[in-house]
Amino acid sequence: MELQREFNILYSMVYYKTSEEIELIRASCLLVSKVLAHVGSLIRPGLTADIIDREAESLIRDHGAVPSFKGYGGFPATLCVSVNEIVVHGIPSEKQVFGESDVISVDCGAYMNGFHGDSAYTFVMGGASSEVIQLCEITNQSLYKGISAAVEGNRLGDIGFAIQHYTESQHGYGVVRELVGHGVGRELHESPQVPNYGKRGRGLKLKEGLVIAIEPMINMGKHQVETAPDNWSIITRDRKVSAHYEHTVAVGKGKADILSDHSLLYETVASNENLFLIK
Ligand code: MG
Ligand code: MG
Repeated sequence: MELQREFNILYSMVYYKTSEEIELIRASCLLVSKVLAHVGSLIRPGLTADIIDREAESLIRDHGAVPSFKGYGGFPATLCVSVNEIVVHGIPSEKQVFGESDVISVDCGAYMNGFHGDSAYTFVMGGASSEVIQLCEITNQSLYKGISAAVEGNRLGDIGFAIQHYTESQHGYGVVRELVGHGVGRELHESPQVPNYGKRGRGLKLKEGLVIAIEPMINMGKHQVETAPDNWSIITRDRKVSAHYEHTVAVGKGKADILSDHSLLYETVASNENLFLIK
């Protein structure tokens, strides 16, 4: 995810990818998907966030790839690990001990063969409340509603509208405004911005070759967020829980091609007795 303000200034060019380039992005995305699946096998109460970060970095480097986030804008880790009221950009540390009812958003990027892949999933501990589980289920479903709109001939606003209509209008949750999805390619964050809110029929016209990360960040309470004292973590202003799910997708004719793959982590989460499977 990217902070909109900075994004506007730095990037404007939209790069459309060839089918060969899309396959390279898919390979990076599949590595990210493997990392998230591995994380899904490890998470348990009492574990600290730095452990999964180290595991993720090893797995990425074992494949001859590089963690996309480490060093990006000075970010110190491989994963963003954002627990409960932290929306995104949480820094994994040994001080972050997972609790029995935590919701843990894990965001990962990997760079391989000149291209990035980017995907995120919010893991839910078995002790989480039904309200929290519902927030995560609705947020995950909204990701696929956004993806359904990522087809040639639609516009960017159709993606944001699909996500916002479902989460905010139909379920009363808050759609984070300050952070958005983005193009993915040779750079981790490319143009265009992909907001999780919007109006139908507005914005950039979508066409084949456009590769974007769609990543709803949805708050149980109000949409407002602020930056934590660590200057990285984005937290909900009302301190209520937030959820975050992300896929990198290629816009297609009639159907988007989802380049990352959460089915790998569905298997590890389903066999991890500490976690509730959100799918
Ligand atoms: Mg992203
Ligand atoms: Mg991400």
